[in-house]
Amino acid sequence: MIACTRISDIKNQLTASRRKKKTIGFVPTMGAFHEGHLELIRRSKNENDLTVCSIFINPIQFNNANDLSNYPRMLEQDKKILTKEGVELLFAPEAEEMYPPGEKQDLDLDLGRLDRVMEGEHRPGHFKGVIIVVKKLLDIIEPTRAYFGKKDFQQLIIIEHMVRALHLRVKVVACETFREPDGLAMSSRNLQLTIGERQLASKIYDVLMYTKANAGSVPVQKLQLISLKRLVEIPEFRVEYFKIVNKRTLLPVDTWDDPEEIIACTALYLGDIRLIDNMELFS
Ligand code: AMP
Repeated sequence: MIACTRISDIKNQLTASRRKKKTIGFVPTMGAFHEGHLELIRRSKNENDLTVCSIFINPIQFNNANDLSNYPRMLEQDKKILTKEGVELLFAPEAEEMYPPGEKQDLDLDLGRLDRVMEGEHRPGHFKGVIIVVKKLLDIIEPTRAYFGKKDFQQLIIIEHMVRALHLRVKVVACETFREPDGLAMSSRNLQLTIGERQLASKIYDVLMYTKANAGSVPVQKLQLISLKRLVEIPEFRVEYFKIVNKRTLLPVDTWDDPEEIIACTALYLGDIRLIDNMELFS
């Protein structure tokens, strides 16, 4: 695997492949790999001639300085994993390479209400930082396909919106959430949980499964309230939201009339660690 830290280097590496019309799969990440990341990488390997992975802990998408400084960094270990997986290229820039001092960072894109609900409400500026970095990365790599996890469902919807609104040529591929045996969605942040917290964390999955089991038979608002209550009752959880929403608009739904379009999303703190998860209720 060839690892690049400079934009010009990764672009040079890709020139020949592009000339030969090879398909390029791209998996943007913040590193500290787990099996969820590897699912995206393996899918890209299967569907493209060449796979590029990026590792960049994007400072401008963190709205909390502690979260940024505590985010796990394991570049050397990650490189070994990527080599083993047969990834051809890694792009792992420093912040100054992506954001040269003095350069204004902005992306004029109307996200409508997509970034004002759920994560957007609780992490002001987060999605602005996400779309700026993803747009930059897509401009640099110019992939045929880019792989994103449903684990970060709101992020996926916002990136799909950006790709459509800006007429980007990339195909966004949505990948299923990969879970631990007890149901906890894999996340780099899970590494920061204590043993006790880690055990409790699977209750998020239990509540999502409970919600799925009762979807359609209990009125939406009532079920949302019961599920929220089940989370709130766990004293170690500081719940930010539990919402049953439309998968495209991310706005609350009142009925079960459009079952294929309905998803439950939640975010909560366990100790200092913020966890998010979601579940499509009828698929
Ligand atoms: P991150 O490194 O956390 O920014 O994640 C990089 C990509 O992996 C994003 O598209 C995430 O949605 C995706 N991802 C993270 N965790 C999982 C998971 N448990 N299952 C599937 N995809 C995931």
